[in-house]
Amino acid sequence: MITRSPANVQTGSLLSPREEPLAILPTTPRGGWQAQLASALRDPRELCRRLALDPAWLPGAERGHALFEVRVPEAYLARIRRGDPRDPLLRQVLPLTAEGDAVEGFVQDPLAETGHTPRRGLIHKYRGRVLLIASPTCAINCRYCFRRHFPYHENAPSRVQWDDTLDYIRGDDSITEVILSGGDPLAASDRQLGWLLDRLEAIDHLVRLRIHTRLPVVIPDRIDDALLAWLSATRLQKVVVLHINHANEIDDAVVAACRRLQGIGVTLLNQSVLLRGINDSVAALHALSERLFAAGILPYYLHVLDPVNGAAHFDVPDHEARTLVEELRQRLPGFLMPRLVREVPGEASKTPL
Ligand code: SF4
Repeated sequence: MITRSPANVQTGSLLSPREEPLAILPTTPRGGWQAQLASALRDPRELCRRLALDPAWLPGAERGHALFEVRVPEAYLARIRRGDPRDPLLRQVLPLTAEGDAVEGFVQDPLAETGHTPRRGLIHKYRGRVLLIASPTCAINCRYCFRRHFPYHENAPSRVQWDDTLDYIRGDDSITEVILSGGDPLAASDRQLGWLLDRLEAIDHLVRLRIHTRLPVVIPDRIDDALLAWLSATRLQKVVVLHINHANEIDDAVVAACRRLQGIGVTLLNQSVLLRGINDSVAALHALSERLFAAGILPYYLHVLDPVNGAAHFDVPDHEARTLVEELRQRLPGFLMPRLVREVPGEASKTPL
């Protein structure tokens, strides 16, 4: 079983764990979001204690943590109601005994991504766009994550390997969009991301940069002046796809972070995962779409759960998902309706349900 390595959590990394930062680039001072990233809570006992949970939750939390480590930044922890084991934010981060259950149909690599990595750190599944694993770490470890077993250690390119990965993009002019993913790409430092972006925008056939991230949600301070500086300077069109599953995740600090991104011309979209016990009600999904739009974010996708080992207890059956979405459609204008989709290995795009 692979768990996320804590090795690069302070800086994130575009480099392999043993490689020194690029000498040509200035040193980024620690502090602010990086300090928050480094000090994220990573002890299941501490998680239960800080949230005043009944001690009965602890054995399960420790068992789940042994499979996929706990990681919760303080800014996210502060939004969780103390003493409430049903809190929809807590459910996303609290390990449970059930994560150790073997369930038929639930596998290590549900999207078969490891068969689509022609270069280290690059996933090429869909025509016209490639995904770069820009950081092997996340600011938060979500218990339902479809990449909870992804072999990040095999996909952390060295500087030389990044050149090879970039050559792959240069050599295919059908690729017009690069998606920065991870882990969480914004767990990498601005210095590293700026280095990568300089090289990407020198590739003429690229027109769009997409960033899939949860960091502006879980550590809103990540959207600071340094990030806005490199991101606003690019010639590429900028899309940030956030990952928010419940309205309670959007507090004033998240709204402020979104406003800053919009201020430099970023299009903001959101994708959610339909999760048992977290957002599997019309009321929860309705509130989420409304709160997203109030923050300037358009609902984009509502994914059914990818069948990854350890997450079966979050699954919502297709018939229930369809019913929920049909009821939601009665309540929301079309532009606030996320598309209900499944990612099917080998398909040329997401599959609508
Ligand atoms: S932030 Fe995204 S990649 Fe990281 S654990 Fe959560 S769902 Fe997975």
